[in-house]
Amino acid sequence: MIDPKCAVALDRVTDYDADVIEAVIRAQIERLGLEGMFDDKRVVIKPNLVMKKSPEAAATTHPIVLEAMIRILKERTSDIIIAESSGGLYTRETLRSVYRGCGLAEVAEKYGVTLNYDVTSRHVEAPSGHTSKMFDIITPILDADVIVNLAKLKSHSLTGYSGAVKNYFGTVPGVTKFEMHARFPDYNDFGSMLTDLCQLILETKPTFNLLDGILAMEGNGPTGGNPRKLDCLISGVNPFNVDIVGSSLINVDGVIMLEEGKRRGFCPDSAEGVTVLSLETPADFAVNDFEKPDTARNFSGGSLLARLPNMFGGRLNAWLQPRPVINTKVCVGCGECERSCPRHTIEMRTNGKGKKQAFIIDDECIKCYCCQELCPFKAVKIKKNPIIKLIGG
Ligand code: SF4
Ligand code: SF4
Repeated sequence: MIDPKCAVALDRVTDYDADVIEAVIRAQIERLGLEGMFDDKRVVIKPNLVMKKSPEAAATTHPIVLEAMIRILKERTSDIIIAESSGGLYTRETLRSVYRGCGLAEVAEKYGVTLNYDVTSRHVEAPSGHTSKMFDIITPILDADVIVNLAKLKSHSLTGYSGAVKNYFGTVPGVTKFEMHARFPDYNDFGSMLTDLCQLILETKPTFNLLDGILAMEGNGPTGGNPRKLDCLISGVNPFNVDIVGSSLINVDGVIMLEEGKRRGFCPDSAEGVTVLSLETPADFAVNDFEKPDTARNFSGGSLLARLPNMFGGRLNAWLQPRPVINTKVCVGCGECERSCPRHTIEMRTNGKGKKQAFIIDDECIKCYCCQELCPFKAVKIKKNPIIKLIGG
């Protein structure tokens, strides 16, 4: 049962200081009445490790937030595991590299917390799902008693916003995430599937969702944007409510997972409907110049004209959507985009100077923007349709 009346806690935090953040999370847990939630439980911490990035990039869970959370959990349980399936392959080698590169391995070692290297997963039925009734989910998540979801507040090229709900997509193993993009190429179906996944987890596990907006990401998130200080930490047991508040701070609405959440009764229609336990109001944290992704099309912040493509179906819709293009001056031919494209529509070709570079075959592209998300060199740019550009979208 997902209770739309669950309160969220919101506090001002201006720096990554472990003592300060620990005190804030501790106070939030108390304010939310969640004391005892973790006692003697197997707690799985689900960070956001979308790709190997340093914490300053604001793309991944900050190690200091993890450290603060671990200190609190260690007082309550000895069974803590950090588990995530990042954007690439789900292998021990990838996990090792991402844990280390994102700065989480050091924290885990310091506190003797287990980093997951079990790369198995299991099929799980999702009877309540509207769009997907079956998910492949990584084993440690399925074996958890409680999930602590350490999400980042970011803009997102496909979904407009990424926070607590979207972070659960990292419970799907490796390339299966690309298959989900291929299975649900339609934006609305994809958002509905993400809602199904989150619903499945919430119906089977208690969750504590902590959204880090101390240093958020604006622009071409979830990996290629720029850090933006919002100075806040938001938490709650209902990730939809956490996100309704989080997305309201950056003036983004129309986020498909949240719209779907509203339709299913998981959250109120707006942040005003959420009980926020805070010394300040969400308006005190809100900014009105948060940079939108270049794909801005389905969510507010783009004009009505920018959202025009969604009013058409099929091929016209696909043709009007912003499309990815390779910046050949930046592309180093690493092949990451080719490996992550769910439609296998990226080829590595050798240019006139004998240099290997990525090439996108437009006809097959479903505009999922995985290539932009996972390019380590920000070599995938987004190009708007000239007609949409001409009419001011
Ligand atoms: S576009 Fe990016 S990910 Fe793709 S080959 Fe070039 S550098 Fe690598
Ligand atoms: S080319 Fe990029 S946007 Fe198009 S289907 Fe492949 S990964 Fe998705």
